[in-house]
Amino acid sequence: MKHQNATGPLRRQHVARAKTRERRRLAIAFGALAVAALFVVALVKPAWHGGAAGGSWSVGQLRPDGLRIVVTGRSDAGHVLDPNEFARADVRHAYWVATQIPALLNQLYCWCGCENRGVHRSNLQCFEDTMGADCDVCVGTAEIAYRMSQQGITDAAKIQAAVDAEWQKG
Ligand SMILES: [Zn+2]
Repeated sequence: MKHQNATGPLRRQHVARAKTRERRRLAIAFGALAVAALFVVALVKPAWHGGAAGGSWSVGQLRPDGLRIVVTGRSDAGHVLDPNEFARADVRHAYWVATQIPALLNQLYCWCGCENRGVHRSNLQCFEDTMGADCDVCVGTAEIAYRMSQQGITDAAKIQAAVDAEWQKG
């Protein structure tokens, strides 16, 4: 009986020490897992940003569909200013073009840099206020689109490429 009473607490101590060691091993293993997970996140995260999701895309950058904008907003001529408001014949014609092919112009990025004024929706937007009145880029872009549409080309990506060839800033 004495012998058993003496070994009881010793065994418990031993078991307690073993449990502490086990907990330490678990803590180290979890620590290693956490570090590994951080590495994986660090490696994968840049791929998300540069990937097809296009998290880092901004207006004016060529997209996989050949356009440089995401088409939004009204695509009719409801907000285009009256061409007759303008004295210059080329400007008047460009505003008239905007009344004829508004949906096409609303798919085109304009290199006038008007995204610097705020939000740049499309070349159509340039004719919804007086931006196009004193802007060769806006006028020229609309005229390229008009000329190509007259030739039966309505693929906005093809027209954007022609616009880029003429107006893209080097
Ligand atoms: Zn413009």
